[in-house]
Amino acid sequence: MRRGPGEGIANMNVPIYLDYQATTPLDERVLGAMLPYFREKFGNAASRNHAFGWEAEKAVENARAQVAALIHAEPKEIVFTSGATESDNLAIKGVAEMYREKGRHILSAPTEHKAVIDTCKRLEQQGCEVTMLPVDRTGLVAVGDIEKAIRPDTILVTLMVANNEIGTLHPVEEIGRLCKERGVLFHTDATQGVGKVPLDVERMGIDLLSLSGHKIYGPKGVGALYVRRRKPRVRLSPILDGGGHERGMRSGTLNVPAIVGLGKACELCGEELDAEAKRLTALREKLWRRISTELDEVHLNGHPTRRLPGNLNVSFAYVEGEGLMMGMSELAVSSGSACTSASLEPSYVLKAIGVGDDLAHTSIRFGLGRFTTEEEVEFAGERVVAAVKRLRDMSPLYEMAKEGVALDQVRWTPNAEH
Ligand SMILES: *Cc1c(COP(=O)(O)O)cnc(C)c1O
Repeated sequence: MRRGPGEGIANMNVPIYLDYQATTPLDERVLGAMLPYFREKFGNAASRNHAFGWEAEKAVENARAQVAALIHAEPKEIVFTSGATESDNLAIKGVAEMYREKGRHILSAPTEHKAVIDTCKRLEQQGCEVTMLPVDRTGLVAVGDIEKAIRPDTILVTLMVANNEIGTLHPVEEIGRLCKERGVLFHTDATQGVGKVPLDVERMGIDLLSLSGHKIYGPKGVGALYVRRRKPRVRLSPILDGGGHERGMRSGTLNVPAIVGLGKACELCGEELDAEAKRLTALREKLWRRISTELDEVHLNGHPTRRLPGNLNVSFAYVEGEGLMMGMSELAVSSGSACTSASLEPSYVLKAIGVGDDLAHTSIRFGLGRFTTEEEVEFAGERVVAAVKRLRDMSPLYEMAKEGVALDQVRWTPNAEH
């Protein structure tokens, strides 16, 4: 790993990576598994006539079993894709097209990833009707609201396992049970949840599930879609036409090295999930305790307990998020979602859960993961607290608030001070 100029930080690489919901570093063991498939084992998994092809196919089938095992599916139910964006598109568009005679109504939520929301928007332009369910202050959808929203023409409910910004975990098992009772298909974007919280497509009544390699210490540009094969047998219209790979659902020559990496990443997650979740929950709590005891006016976004082990999202009132990030450049964190951080729009997820624009602009997402150490968390806590205090010392708003001035009653006169 890179060694930075971290003066006085013994044994620590800076910047410290705390953005594990944006992407994760590749696990060395995953890289090791992949390398032979970039070199001597270069065959096309669809080549049926020789040993090169058979070797590649065998590796792909092994990976398929590894992915399936992590979510308690059958290997035949796994379709390899280029990532979760494609998996979400394939699941939602594939169902909408295949079941259009049955109905055209879809249920989702405003806190979903753009890969789901924008896919739903596209379908709306094509005659589908999408109902966005309400979410509460913690980012949860109430199962009762789903029940009320289901209509005779509802064909699909799509709700994520874990939110990528605020870490909130949906009650997937209850949602799955309801969908089963009502004969509606249930798709879940499990990109953040897979490998972090236990998932079982049987027990949870999941019909379609999206996942991605690079969020679970595997390579970028590879993912999978779980497609239930029995009770019920889910059918999908493909997006890509071509050679009919992946049981006709996803044509295109398989990316064998990446698929091998995804399989290995899933296997490792299965082995380490429990211990990792425990360790990361403790580290996250440690960081939050430090922040919330040493600073006032800080707000935890998302659910206090029902959340991803490695996710902490905090609003630091009176401190602008971008400025704060600059003030603690030894930490690689995110303000809002990586996908929207290019613009200065407040995060749509925070907006949807009712965080006001002012507070949303002060929010930082800390993402902890497999290679995060206790020392790094201690260092991060110290830097955050110092940076927030420094910025607040320079903030007239913070000063006024401390002096008891009700800021919403202040009359702002632009340029008056000049
Ligand atoms: C990262 C992410 C995606 C997109 O995955 P890619 O593999 O990068 O396309 C979709 N949904 C969620 C919840 C994510 O966190």
